[in-house]
Amino acid sequence: MVVILKPGTKPEVIQTFVCKFEQMGLEVGVTKGVGCCVLGLIGDTSHVNETEIMLNEHVDRVMRVQEPYKKVNRKFHPEDSVVNVGGIRVGGGHFAVMAGPCSVESREQITSIAKEVQSCGAALLRGGAFKPRTSPYSFQGMGVEGLELLMEAKEAAGMPIVTELMSPYYCELFEETVDLVQIGARNMQNFELLKEVGKMSKPVLLKRGLANTYEEWIMSAEYIMAGGNENVILCERGIRTFETGTRNTLDVAAIPAIKRMSHLPIVVDPSHSGGYAWLVEPLAMAAVAAGADGLIIEVHNDPKHAKCDGQQCITPSQFGGLMQKITALTQITGKTIET
Ligand code: PEP
Ligand code: MN
Repeated sequence: MVVILKPGTKPEVIQTFVCKFEQMGLEVGVTKGVGCCVLGLIGDTSHVNETEIMLNEHVDRVMRVQEPYKKVNRKFHPEDSVVNVGGIRVGGGHFAVMAGPCSVESREQITSIAKEVQSCGAALLRGGAFKPRTSPYSFQGMGVEGLELLMEAKEAAGMPIVTELMSPYYCELFEETVDLVQIGARNMQNFELLKEVGKMSKPVLLKRGLANTYEEWIMSAEYIMAGGNENVILCERGIRTFETGTRNTLDVAAIPAIKRMSHLPIVVDPSHSGGYAWLVEPLAMAAVAAGADGLIIEVHNDPKHAKCDGQQCITPSQFGGLMQKITALTQITGKTIET
């Protein structure tokens, strides 16, 4: 249930409402927007008397929320959420580009790519240390050593890092070292992992599962938020369809659709969506035009010899060209690029 208070309601009045609902056993989320205050009530609200609340002089409107997602719901938080990742803002008009290789391969590789993408305007460095691979015989990532190299590159280039967490075992290490914790497509519904990430203080990049609906996806974000971590960024990375000409199919409609359902920022991964370097630019441009709050792009200095996903990696110079086009397009969509 959502209770919208009239503009100008005093803080002490808001507090009285909060106490009253908490005494009824409900959790209360308070969102102060321009000119109004929204109280989001979570828990069993069947015993809450709507008419009685409506009669209160400070109340503007009361709405029952039918959807199973609450904290993620735009009804609970009418304005766009802005997630701060190590000083970089994502959402609410702030656009962030994350770039780097699929996986960390060596100190030289990650540090040089970091400096190059940074000089082209990327705000965050990506790079997998733990890789979810289809085959157990494929390169599994450098693990903890890869994470250490990523941190060195972070220092060298002066940019925050995003990397995938696959196991609750590494939550503590990620809490200390990583700026944005990526939950990959294959783990989007790993509920035990989501619960653990919900206890972390670091923001989370939640990728859409390979074949998951919008509702399933944001219910996973709800798991993280329900655990107390409200800093979630969603990432559309293409879904499975009957088409085999591309690795996945970028669901461009997900951007405006998710924005109607939720206040959380949404970024797009054109690399895993298309699966080919030649598709990265058009898909990235489509995502920006559709209102995405950022992009996560695979960039490699030697794509032919990349240990993972080389066919979809673009080079630093291609990335530089793309950044210029993205910058021009964000001027139309009214977003500011974060660096
Ligand atoms: C990745 O970002 O390297 C990755 C494995 O992505 P996804 O989980 O979307 O497949
Ligand atoms: Mn990859």
